[in-house]
Amino acid sequence: MIPAFIIARLRSLLVPELADLRQQLDQARRLASEAQGRFREAEKCVDIWRGRCHEFEIQLGQLRTELARAKDDLDERHGPLLGPIVMERDQLKARCDRDDAGITIHECPPSGAGLMPCCQRTPFEVMGDRMSTRPELVNCDRVRLMTERDQLRARVAELEAYEAYCRRNKVIP
Ligand SMILES: [Zn+2]
Repeated sequence: MIPAFIIARLRSLLVPELADLRQQLDQARRLASEAQGRFREAEKCVDIWRGRCHEFEIQLGQLRTELARAKDDLDERHGPLLGPIVMERDQLKARCDRDDAGITIHECPPSGAGLMPCCQRTPFEVMGDRMSTRPELVNCDRVRLMTERDQLRARVAELEAYEAYCRRNKVIP
């Protein structure tokens, strides 16, 4: 049998200790619950971001589809228009090459006629030139066009020189 005064002494020693331990335990529980709360919040954030990423991926896919559709539409609508423009550009380029090479090509007189439709002359008047039945090859107006081009170039050079003179001498034209 433990004497009552010893029990009382032990109790007086253990009770504050127990209270302290309880307090520590409570604090640990509180901290754990806070940490859990933060973890749940972070998980929610991750879920939100995952959702957004998924949305963005869907939007990106839609945009890609729209872009492909727009490109197809453009090709479909402008393809037929582009063809003739490209052909015309190629013809003009070929014509410029012929002009620069000094080759003049007239349109062949129609059967039974003596005059070339392009310049109303007979082939005998321009023996050094060539003739063709294909209108896109005809460049019989090349001399006239080249003369016009040279005149325009000379006029542009004159105006540029005048502009430079005005700027140099601070003259207001
Ligand atoms: Zn001609």
